[in-house]
Amino acid sequence: MNSLLKPTSIESCALCPRACGAHRAFGDSGVCGAADALKLARAALHMWEEPPISGERGSGTIFFSGCPLKCVYCQNHEISTGNFGIEVPAERLVEIMFELQDQGAHNINLVTATHYAHLLPHAVSQARAQGLAIPIVYNTSGYERVEAVAELGDVVDVWLTDYKYASDELGRELSHVSDYPDVAERALVQMCKEIERRGGALSDADGMMKRGTIVRHLVLPGHADDSCAVLDRIWNAVGDVPISVMNQYTPNAAMRVAGGLLSRAVTTEEYEQVLDHADDLGFTTMFWQEGGAVDESFTPPFDTTGVLKPSA
Ligand code: SF4
Repeated sequence: MNSLLKPTSIESCALCPRACGAHRAFGDSGVCGAADALKLARAALHMWEEPPISGERGSGTIFFSGCPLKCVYCQNHEISTGNFGIEVPAERLVEIMFELQDQGAHNINLVTATHYAHLLPHAVSQARAQGLAIPIVYNTSGYERVEAVAELGDVVDVWLTDYKYASDELGRELSHVSDYPDVAERALVQMCKEIERRGGALSDADGMMKRGTIVRHLVLPGHADDSCAVLDRIWNAVGDVPISVMNQYTPNAAMRVAGGLLSRAVTTEEYEQVLDHADDLGFTTMFWQEGGAVDESFTPPFDTTGVLKPSA
């Protein structure tokens, strides 16, 4: 079987569904902003993931620079579009995992690693061989190739995946891809298959997730109907999976200037419409956010904390 996730995959890159063919291994950058070197923006404990991920001590988040999607409203635009970060050797990834474990992280949370997935099987197997004991969380936009998900099936323990849109048109307008809903659905089905293959979801005695899937959906202002359609697609594709319905949308500077629906927050009515629909469908594990969750604390400072080796 041909492997997708190997170092030579970036000679003519097709790691993500864009398959833009960038010659990254020879120094060119792809649509995602990545070239040959690993680039990271931050590595630190993060308290604002879902409770079974952040727990009391925090999730050990590693933010990868760049992103294959270019969502116009992105809260992390400095790193997703701006490609902010520091280039480090691939071996540094393993060191960072141990530093986060030593800080007490409940897990290693790889945030938007899609375009660096070719490095993950080796890095995680090295870390496991050296004693990394905490779960690997793969925190993704959901825009993933099925082949990549399948190859990461024994590398990733928890899939924390977005499902952003049900409408192709919204995907085109807001993330510049024509096939988001179908791609995200196929990827999600594969994620759930991988978890089942490994024995199903698993939590520890404190309710921390050791293995499983959480599907995230950020409700966008003016698009509650599409959010309900997203929930329909999730339910029809994989049934009663844990979901996280978020109302933390905050207009970034570009959206405030552009005006229109995405220049405001989500209303209580819109959010309740989506939560009610999730209830009606029958989802039994649902995370939601209380109050007007427009809060900058959800977005950590991208200041390269933890990226470089600590000086002795
Ligand atoms: S991961 Fe980046 S370089 Fe590779 S196909 Fe996707 S956008 Fe292109």
